[in-house]
Amino acid sequence: MYCNYCGSEVVYKIPKADDHKRAVCSACHAIHYQNPKIITGVIVEYNGQILLAKRAIKPRYGTWTIPAGFMEIGETTQEGAARECIEETEAELKNIKLFGVYNIIPNSQVYTIFHAQLAKPHFKATDESLAVELFNPKDIPWDNIAFPCVTAALKRYVGEMGTNFSIKLEDINEDFEGSKFSGYYDN
Ligand SMILES: [Zn+2]
Repeated sequence: MYCNYCGSEVVYKIPKADDHKRAVCSACHAIHYQNPKIITGVIVEYNGQILLAKRAIKPRYGTWTIPAGFMEIGETTQEGAARECIEETEAELKNIKLFGVYNIIPNSQVYTIFHAQLAKPHFKATDESLAVELFNPKDIPWDNIAFPCVTAALKRYVGEMGTNFSIKLEDINEDFEGSKFSGYYDN
């Protein structure tokens, strides 16, 4: 790895008054912090069906997921989820509400997952998705879901359909090579 500021090689060491190893520039001494990234997504429902997109991008090309992606600077998590939903499915949302926060420990990510209704029955595949479809809960392709936290969120969502949805904080200890997910606990 090279320094973003001066292009010199970095060394990994614990800076003074820190307790984590950091990438420190050997020339200008800039410290390059790495911290978890925020991904924001949304479970979209329409007449009891759930909107899923088949990924046209890596990782997990060809698997199904809810619309989700990295949060951009200058937007809220809910705006990011709605933006990702348009980019991946063209679907416009209404009644967007928080559903859960997911700590993805192995991938250093935090997912904020919302739920919402389709504002109108329009959606289609885009450059980021091979297909976009509404699924009845019993037809969700559980064996081909992109990420464990998406499986965890969808399973809880399906279990809570017809109720007032809860908001939960969940810890996911498997990366997307694994399939098990941890239990969740109430806020
Ligand atoms: Zn430097």
